[in-house]
Amino acid sequence: MPVEQELINALKPPTVAVIGIPLDIHSSFMKGPASGPSHLRKALHSGSMNFCTENGIDLSNNTQFTDLGDMRFSSEASFPEDIEQTIAALLARDARVLSIGGDHSVTYPILKAYKAKYGSLSILHFDAHPDLYDEYAGDRLSHACPFARIMEEGGVKRLVQAGIRTINPPQREQIERFGVTVIEMKEWRQGCPIDIDGPVYISLDIDAMDPAFAPGVSHHEPGGLSTRDVIRTIQKVHAPVIGADIVELNPRQDINNMTAMVGAKLLKELAGKMIEGFPE
Ligand code: MN
Ligand code: MN
Repeated sequence: MPVEQELINALKPPTVAVIGIPLDIHSSFMKGPASGPSHLRKALHSGSMNFCTENGIDLSNNTQFTDLGDMRFSSEASFPEDIEQTIAALLARDARVLSIGGDHSVTYPILKAYKAKYGSLSILHFDAHPDLYDEYAGDRLSHACPFARIMEEGGVKRLVQAGIRTINPPQREQIERFGVTVIEMKEWRQGCPIDIDGPVYISLDIDAMDPAFAPGVSHHEPGGLSTRDVIRTIQKVHAPVIGADIVELNPRQDINNMTAMVGAKLLKELAGKMIEGFPE
């Protein structure tokens, strides 16, 4: 198991379990997101910000918030199974998992475990890219493909994508094939709530945001969301959020750790959202 079983056994539900997934073997353009988890944690623990979320939850010394550290992989080849197995073990303890990537390829095995636990769920996906390629440069597990794998296996009530601004004809076909709801950036209206049924899983690719807010990503795609757009959209989800990931933070591209800070802020807000939805 890439996380010590004792740590998993010690979890006291209900809790949000944070786990780092330091992998970038399926990045197509540039490596770096493997160092994303440590870069984000450094910002979170820098002393620059407190641990309170905007909905009033203090995450410091909070038994409903546990950081399990990073997953360790025995070999690169074992990556999808290792992630799926670890997430399944956390879900068996009734944790809500908040993972820090890593590139976006990690979301496919995470969702495999989630679908096994919940049967059917909705996905809110923030990204500049639809990540729906059937294969990319011969790699079906590429970070450009996770949502094709997730959708073809079923178990998704609805996939809603926000921040999208890079659709090309092959991905347009996939959007139609899988019935994806895409809120393209050109149609984005500030403050419009996203209508989505629970349980909801949120997958947050940092490049959904404009590079002006978050330059520490492998693919700079101008014309994106603001940090506030993403936070407000998360806050306005009116359904239980049962899991989330933050992916594609690339420290090699960051400037003055500003993207790490954005990641830390979003981690707090996602954790606050998940804790707010815990059953009484
Ligand atoms: Mn992505
Ligand atoms: Mn992206």
